[in-house]
Amino acid sequence: MKAVRVHRTGGPEVLSYEDVPIPEPQAGEVLVKLEAAGVNYIDTYQRSGLYRIELPAILGQEGAGVVVRLGAGVKNFKEGDPVAWTGVLGSYAEYAAVPEDRLVAIPSGLSAKQAAAAMLQGMTAHYLARSTYPLKEGDICLVHAAAGGVGLLLVQIARMCGATVIGTVSTAEKEALAREAGAHYVIRYTETDFEAEVKRITQGRGVQVVYDSVGRDTFEKSLDCLALRGMLVLFGQSSGPVPPFDPQILNRKGSLFLTRPSLGHYIATREELLERAGDVLGWVKEGRLRLRIHAEYPLSRAAEAHRDLEKRRTSGKLLLLPGQ
Ligand code: NDP
Repeated sequence: MKAVRVHRTGGPEVLSYEDVPIPEPQAGEVLVKLEAAGVNYIDTYQRSGLYRIELPAILGQEGAGVVVRLGAGVKNFKEGDPVAWTGVLGSYAEYAAVPEDRLVAIPSGLSAKQAAAAMLQGMTAHYLARSTYPLKEGDICLVHAAAGGVGLLLVQIARMCGATVIGTVSTAEKEALAREAGAHYVIRYTETDFEAEVKRITQGRGVQVVYDSVGRDTFEKSLDCLALRGMLVLFGQSSGPVPPFDPQILNRKGSLFLTRPSLGHYIATREELLERAGDVLGWVKEGRLRLRIHAEYPLSRAAEAHRDLEKRRTSGKLLLLPGQ
């Protein structure tokens, strides 16, 4: 089969499109023929070496397709079932062997592309808004990179929770998309001081929570945007990792909370995975959560997808299509 492998860490050029054997599903695993694989920022961290993985490896944390073979002891799936998953490495490929306890059935009426586009970023937006800091009516939240893959979904889910949403973006096009997703206020943080703007919008009080995936470039000012006892949810580092941090700063700035969550810890049990995936895929099906697929690339052009993502050229989901 064709797959995109990484043999050494580096830039997008280390993504190698090559022939590899189709994986054998082990006990408890299911062999899936992929229709679409999601591209996510974490793939760039694993490619560059910011996050360590054992090499060589087939990249990709998210995919959807059809069950073609069952490993020993698989109980809950059969050949022909449409399925999706996240959190298992190896989706930049024509086939992947996935533990059945990480698989989710795609509801009828949803395509594999929609499922691949919703799993990782959708469940991330879900846990951030519903569990890490459960938003409620009256809360004001700040969402950085509001027109990104996670951002557009987080804005919509934050609105569903009844919160007022302030988003940050880099361009006028992204501003329009963040507003379309439901952001009440949008700040172009590349041109305007977002801290001053948040203070102005909140009449100096600050926001209850900042969802910050940008990291190095926004971290300090994000803390300064918080109301007393507010929470900074640092969930990514698109601009680079945040340097070491003195916890005393949290006291000085108003008994703040800081957390650095990861999706894996919020879908660790099968129950939690099914609950979040059920909500997210259900909302997409009902039309309550709109997916924006920014671009689809043939699997062979994974490097181009990584370049576009890292150069801030994208708004929404990037998909890789095997067999093209
Ligand atoms: P995005 O589509 O959000 O792409 C990243 C965006 O970040 C860019 O489009 C850009 O938006 C913004 N950005 C700001 N500064 C930079 C910079 N210097 N370089 C590149 N981008 C920058 O990606 P994803 O939706 O895939 O992921 C968003 C973030 O969320 C990532 O940091 C990812 O690691 C994290 N994440 C964390 C998870 C978790 O559970 N902890 C799960 C999923 C994602 P703009 O141009 O508007 O500034």
